[in-house]
Amino acid sequence: MSRDFNTIGFAPGSQSKKWIDDVCYEMDTETDTLTMTTQEDIYFFCLQNGAPYLINNWGEKKVRFVGKVFGKLALLLLISLILYYFLRDRIVFPYNMTWLFILLTIGVIIFSYFVYDQLTSVADFYINSRCRKCGKDFAYEEFKKPLTRKVSTSENYEITTTKYHKCRYCGDEDLRIQTNYIDCKGKKEKLTKNACKCCGKENSMKEYRRPDVHTTYDTVETIRFYKCLDCGYQAITVENVYSPGPM
Ligand SMILES: [Zn+2]
Ligand SMILES: [Zn+2]
Repeated sequence: MSRDFNTIGFAPGSQSKKWIDDVCYEMDTETDTLTMTTQEDIYFFCLQNGAPYLINNWGEKKVRFVGKVFGKLALLLLISLILYYFLRDRIVFPYNMTWLFILLTIGVIIFSYFVYDQLTSVADFYINSRCRKCGKDFAYEEFKKPLTRKVSTSENYEITTTKYHKCRYCGDEDLRIQTNYIDCKGKKEKLTKNACKCCGKENSMKEYRRPDVHTTYDTVETIRFYKCLDCGYQAITVENVYSPGPM
């Protein structure tokens, strides 16, 4: 597990933007709204280039069906592995074969899940890349990196992702915008009163609103909001705790 920690200050009434790595933090001190923007990587999956071949030969339904079969196989083997864990005292494998059996099962689970994920992606890609104007298949391509914008107020946390697609045949542009609201307000810390970096007054920085605690599959990000009781100077702390992640 690793951790990084940053503090960003915003002078009263300012609209300044600050960068940490590839995230832009912008605090509107009037409306108490924090906006974070990031450019994401363009989506690509392993079988993407092979998708037209698979769809032409099998069709969307068969690709999806075979994907589901592998998905169910992965799930079934995972359940067997869990069952084995509980019944391990009653099931005896020949000498030294237990670990071989377990490793083999884990290998097949990973492989089956990979096939399920890729074939599902092929079928979805086929549906999503058909041009709505000229009707050609595998036509839309992302021509610009997707943009993620997170807007945090004391009440809400909104994530908007914009993807930019263009048809490689007729040039039709298709903007895909997805907005999610998440409930991620955590608890304030009990005692945190520090000196203000702007006016220098001791014990004047107070955590004035609930933090945003945003969890993804391998990271927990906590953003805390502080304000100087004396001069109105604002600061946020951004803490990221990374877990080792999936295998
Ligand atoms: Zn087109
Ligand atoms: Zn101050």
